[in-house]
Amino acid sequence: MFKKILIANRGEIAVRIIRACRESGIKSVAVYSEADETSLHLKMADEKVCIGPPVSAKSYLNMESIIKAAKETCADAIHPGYGYLAEVEEFAKMCDEQGIVFIGPTPHNLSLAGDKIAGKKIMEEAGVPVIPSSPGGVGSIDEAKSFCNEIGYPVMIKASGGGGGRGIRVCQNEEDLLEEFPVAKMEARAAFGNDELYIEKFITQPRHIEFQILADKSGKVIHLGERECTIQRRYQKLIEEAPSPGLTPALRKAMGDAAIKAAEAIQYFNAGTVEFLLDKDGKFYFIEINSRIQVEHPVTELTTGIDLVKEQIRLSSGETLDYSFDDLNIKGWAIECRINAEDPEKNFLPSPGTVEEYHPPGGFGVRLDTHLYQGYELPIYYDSLIAKLISYDTTRNGAISVMKRALEEFRVYPLKTTIPLYLQVMDDPHFIEGKFDTSFIEKFLPEEDEDDDDDD
Ligand code: ADP
Ligand code: ADP
Ligand code: MG
Repeated sequence: MFKKILIANRGEIAVRIIRACRESGIKSVAVYSEADETSLHLKMADEKVCIGPPVSAKSYLNMESIIKAAKETCADAIHPGYGYLAEVEEFAKMCDEQGIVFIGPTPHNLSLAGDKIAGKKIMEEAGVPVIPSSPGGVGSIDEAKSFCNEIGYPVMIKASGGGGGRGIRVCQNEEDLLEEFPVAKMEARAAFGNDELYIEKFITQPRHIEFQILADKSGKVIHLGERECTIQRRYQKLIEEAPSPGLTPALRKAMGDAAIKAAEAIQYFNAGTVEFLLDKDGKFYFIEINSRIQVEHPVTELTTGIDLVKEQIRLSSGETLDYSFDDLNIKGWAIECRINAEDPEKNFLPSPGTVEEYHPPGGFGVRLDTHLYQGYELPIYYDSLIAKLISYDTTRNGAISVMKRALEEFRVYPLKTTIPLYLQVMDDPHFIEGKFDTSFIEKFLPEEDEDDDDDD
């Protein structure tokens, strides 16, 4: 087992990983940018190293600086969290070369999962259902036009190297396509350094259902059940739950089997997620593999009792999975709300500032993953996720009641947050019934939100 792990991340996920290290008797090293000198993860770790100026490209994405910090502190492994370097193949390779264990999938896994076109091809060959799409990258607008005429509208333009909901455009007709294609190309180049686009059939009113995977070095792959992540805004998840209120036992079995097949097809190692869309007729399609710990991992932890971060660490140290899906005792219901420092009344305008009054919710069935504390000044440079509030109960209705009560208790004055939006959702009859699709949240949003032009 490792003696010391460097955490190449910040915010709530850095705190989450440090807790797992502490419980495992492993020392932790926090890294931080100059804007994060007062961050909670520094107070919790055993050691800390400044890795650069506020802008992420020079700190949390600075591979040399992070490797140097690991060497200086004699860390034997690096946990990348999510976002930043978590899915960067080059970084995983650099760690290998330096004799530092990268806690995550292999560089080979990262290269296949990171290229959505290549990944889809492999899945198709493995017999996993995929969404009809262009056979490869679509270079010119003429190529795009003729392909769309073939499969029919509506279609979705996606960036081959995309992620985090960015670089996605829906086109209802050829007019939209002509307008959106060049914009998407520019956006993909700016955001991902790769302007390759492909086109997919648009699935109307789908649910997003994903399966948590664990795999060990011997090639054993298991899944830990599904997560329902249909409540999204601009293709980004807001509320997740486990299990999904939209699956029958038969569908759950078929999708779980397909998820394992997908992971096996790329010899997947460590924790990962296989994402699917489920259409109105109960047909499901693979969309991508996320090769990292995910933001919404706590809902799976609560329903399975398995600490996924500790499992990542254990598997990366060479230990094996000594249990199977049938040994898991999946029970109860968990719901997560991603709380952002954004004003839902003002088109989700970021709301940084100092937390003057902090009252976290607590009590039976409540888990809060956050880096907030009273007096904390939120830097303007980073993601607006400030907390993940997770509720747990034996039933879904119970988990909704706990969530409502916890959201009401939560106070982070004077920041504007997405808490009021989530309170509305918890009262919505369709949400309570479990009947919704990815367009669900639109009815709660102000008008201007429909204008998709400005970037998040
Ligand atoms: P999850 O799939 O676990 O819900 P998200 O898709 O919201 O997580 O991504 C988690 C974090 O990683 C977010 O901060 C998101 O912006 C970032 N992220 C994900 N994929 C990419 C990518 N390809 N490039 C840049 N950032 C990404
Ligand atoms: P990212 O890498 O940004 O997470 P995904 O391919 O996982 O991108 O898609 C993100 C979200 O976009 C999905 O959860 C879903 O809501 C929507 N989406 C993706 N592909 C389609 C599609 N073909 N039809 C309809 N919605 C889609
Ligand atoms: Mg995705």
